[in-house]
Amino acid sequence: MDVERAVVDWLANHQAQMVVLLRKLIRQPSIPGQESSAQQIVLDHLLDLGLGARAEEINVAGLTALPGYSETGCSYAGRPNVVARQLGEGGGRSLILSSHIDVVPVEAGSGWTHEPWAAEIDGNRLYGRGAWDDKPGIALILIVLRALRELDVRLCGDLEVQSVPDEEGGGNATLALCAAGHRADTALFVDGVRCAAVTGFMGQTWFRVCVPGLSSGGVSPDRGVNPVPLASKLIEALYDLEDEMNDALKAGYGGQQRPVRFNVGRIQAGAWSNSVPSCCVFDGQINFPPSKTLDWAQRRVREAIADAAVRDRWLRSHPPTIHFVGVQTSGCHDTSSPELLHLLGTAHRDVWHQEMEVRQILGFIDTRHYLAYGIPSVCYGPMGANAHGVDEYLDLETLLPTAQAIALFVLRWCGTDS
Ligand SMILES: [Zn+2]
Repeated sequence: MDVERAVVDWLANHQAQMVVLLRKLIRQPSIPGQESSAQQIVLDHLLDLGLGARAEEINVAGLTALPGYSETGCSYAGRPNVVARQLGEGGGRSLILSSHIDVVPVEAGSGWTHEPWAAEIDGNRLYGRGAWDDKPGIALILIVLRALRELDVRLCGDLEVQSVPDEEGGGNATLALCAAGHRADTALFVDGVRCAAVTGFMGQTWFRVCVPGLSSGGVSPDRGVNPVPLASKLIEALYDLEDEMNDALKAGYGGQQRPVRFNVGRIQAGAWSNSVPSCCVFDGQINFPPSKTLDWAQRRVREAIADAAVRDRWLRSHPPTIHFVGVQTSGCHDTSSPELLHLLGTAHRDVWHQEMEVRQILGFIDTRHYLAYGIPSVCYGPMGANAHGVDEYLDLETLLPTAQAIALFVLRWCGTDS
């Protein structure tokens, strides 16, 4: 029997199994720092598949001098990578299948209509934090591996599975694997990218700004200096920087006329309504075009803050401080190779009966690390919406075709000896 047909049919007959595993993974709130229970599920599945899977702790101290490292300020204890490598029969190309197990936090009271950690199904949608970004990634990889095992398909090339934490807030987990010598002829990163192949992404820099004030009683604010309105001025300056960077990008990027996006994600000041706070701290990020360097972007942020600060009498003598904490990455025009795109594109077309879109995104992905270590890489995955937002969901109807396209790609890239 034709191997490809058998695998595609097996997946079609085991959709329910895939959804059960996916829901189990969504119910693990694997926000950064708390990925271990979800990683254990992945490890157990890989061991059950008969693969020599293992959890590899991340030694972040050994990474700090490497290009692509992001200072996150977070501990990596108990947040292992989970890796398994299946040796091929020989004569084929090797492949890494990777996805990230971490999800971004849910803000309390943010108005979800479905409980974020319950993995509720409503019609064709599966709701939950990570339901799209990126619990389907590893669920798809595991079901494809299960199909190959159940059908006793022997690949010619080596196949390595990587389930990584820390993608959302740093990317150091994938960097650790690359630095430790994990290699393949290509890497397919499975994430929620609307059934397109993502080959490029923008740079991004995260920062923390501390705005000093002078504390006093709330009914005598003239004796103090309130840092909250001062922080507001600095935030306005960063929105002006966003405008300026977008205006300079006359041609846009990735089909977007205004691709540069500044965001304030967190702000904190004070302890009491009737007291003037002593400082205000805000965290933000801004993305920037692949044609610019990370140093350039960090310098622009520093200058925007400094220019706004010197226009204020208090901040002129009490300047705010900036720390670049969290994701620090340059952008990339193309992480793929023609052969990789061709084979993924034909696999996609054979399942979807339409051409695969190839595009660039405004965010960032771990494919940057593979490329830095000479491994062409592309990101591909199912459809959904509201990643990082309220009522994140997966379009369940795209799960099976995405699994089938990935499976066909694996068979054709690695080759089979049957
Ligand atoms: Zn993701």
